[in-house]
Amino acid sequence: MALEQAFAALEPETLPSRLGTLEILTEKLGPPSGWKVREVGDGNLNLVFIVEGGGKSMIVKQALPYVRLVGEGWPLPLTRSFFEYNALIRQADRAPGSVPEVFYFDERQAIIVQEFLSPHIILRRALIEGQVLPRLAEDLGLFMARTLFRGSDLSLEAAARKKDMALFAGNDALCDITEALVFTDPYYDAEMNSHTTPELDGIVARLRADRDLKVTAQEMKQAFVTRAETMLHGDLHTGSIMVTEDETRVIDPEFAYYGPMAFDVGMLLANYWMSFFSQRGHEQNGARGNVRRHLLNTITGTWTAFRDEFSRLWREERTGILFQRALYEDQGDTLGAEQALERFLHALFEDMLGFAGLEIHRRILGLAHNADFETIADRAQKARCETAALEFGRHIAVNRRHISSLDALERLASRLE
Ligand code: ADP
Ligand code: MG
Ligand code: MG
Ligand code: MG
Repeated sequence: MALEQAFAALEPETLPSRLGTLEILTEKLGPPSGWKVREVGDGNLNLVFIVEGGGKSMIVKQALPYVRLVGEGWPLPLTRSFFEYNALIRQADRAPGSVPEVFYFDERQAIIVQEFLSPHIILRRALIEGQVLPRLAEDLGLFMARTLFRGSDLSLEAAARKKDMALFAGNDALCDITEALVFTDPYYDAEMNSHTTPELDGIVARLRADRDLKVTAQEMKQAFVTRAETMLHGDLHTGSIMVTEDETRVIDPEFAYYGPMAFDVGMLLANYWMSFFSQRGHEQNGARGNVRRHLLNTITGTWTAFRDEFSRLWREERTGILFQRALYEDQGDTLGAEQALERFLHALFEDMLGFAGLEIHRRILGLAHNADFETIADRAQKARCETAALEFGRHIAVNRRHISSLDALERLASRLE
C-alpha cells in the first residue's frame, strides 16, 4: 500500500490486496491469497477486521473520518488512530502485558495492526453472562496504577512529560465527545439523549432539576478539562477490556489524553457498578447472587489493588518533579512522603466517586447506553435496575467528599439494588 495514497476505508474484499505487501502480516499469515477477512467491529467508532491465514490471526483496526455508529453526518478526525497507537505503546511500556501487541501503524490510512486476543471476550459480555473472573480486580488495579503513575509528574522527567502532554493535546476532538456526552448532555434535554420512557421520566426530571448534581457535574468537568495529571486511557469501560479466566487485556485507548487520574478509575468502577445494578435483569436462567457478590468484591478489590500498587510506586519510583525525595526521604522524613501519599489517594478517591456517578448517569440518560441495561428484556425490570443505578450515581457524586470507605459503598449499593 502506497503511503502517499489518500485515505480509503478498508473492506473485507480489498484488505488482502491493500495490506498484502506488509511483511509483518505475510510473515505471520502467509500470502494474502490465503487470507480470510471478517469485519467484527462492535464498537461505536471504528472498523475492526480479523485477518486469518495459515491458522493464525491478526487484528486490523481502522478509523473512519466519521463516527461509525452515526455515519458521515458526524465527522471525527482520523488522527484518533495516531493517539490510539501512541497510547498503546506507552501502556505496553508502563504496564507490560496489559495491552495487545502492536505490529504496524499507518498514519495516513489510520490503520493499526495488532495482536488478535483469543479466546478473550469483551468483559461487558462476560459480566452479562454472569461469569466470575478471579483475576480482574488485581489485573485492572495494576494496569491503572502503573499507567497513571508512570505517565505523571510523579515519574516522568519534566521536559519529556510536557512534550508528551502537548502531543496528546491534539486529541481534542475525542475530548470534546467526553466533555459533552459525560459531563453536560445528561443534565439537560440534549438532542441525542434517550432514556427508558415513560418509566424514568420522573427521576430524569428530578435529576435535571437537581442543583447540587449539576454543580457537581460542572466541577468534575472542570477537573477533566483543566487537570492534566497523566496520560489517561480515556474510555476505560467494560467494553474496552477483554478477558479470559486467566488474563485481562485493555484495548481501544483512542480517547487517550492528559487528564485527572481519577477519571479512568471512576469510569471503570462505574461500569462495574452498572453491571451490579443490571444483574436482577439477567436472572431468568438462575439467581445471580454470586455474581453480585463477585462484582462488589471486584470493585473493592480493584480499588485496593490500585491503591497498593500506586503506593508501592510512590515509595519506590518517585523520580519526577512532584514530592521529590530531596524534600522527604533524603532528609530522613519518610513520614512526610507517607502523609503526602495519603492525601493524594484520599483526593483521588473523592474524584473517582464524582466521575463514577456521572458515568453511570450518562449511560442511562445520554447518547451511548450500555448493553448491561439495554439487553434486559423485561422493560419494567430494566427501569427498576436503571433507577437504582441513577440514585446510586447521584448519591456518590454529590456526597463524594463525605464517603470515606468502600464498605459504605458496598452497603449502599446492596441497599439500593
Ligand atoms: P471501537 O474503537 O470502535 O470501539 P474497539 O477497539 O473497541 O473499537 O474494537 C471493537 C471490537 O473489536 C471489540 O469489542 C472486540 O470485539 C474486537 N477487538 C478489537 N481489538 C481486538 C483484539 N486486539 N483482539 C480481539 N478482538 C478485538
Ligand atoms: Mg471500543
Ligand atoms: Mg467504542
Ligand atoms: Mg474506541
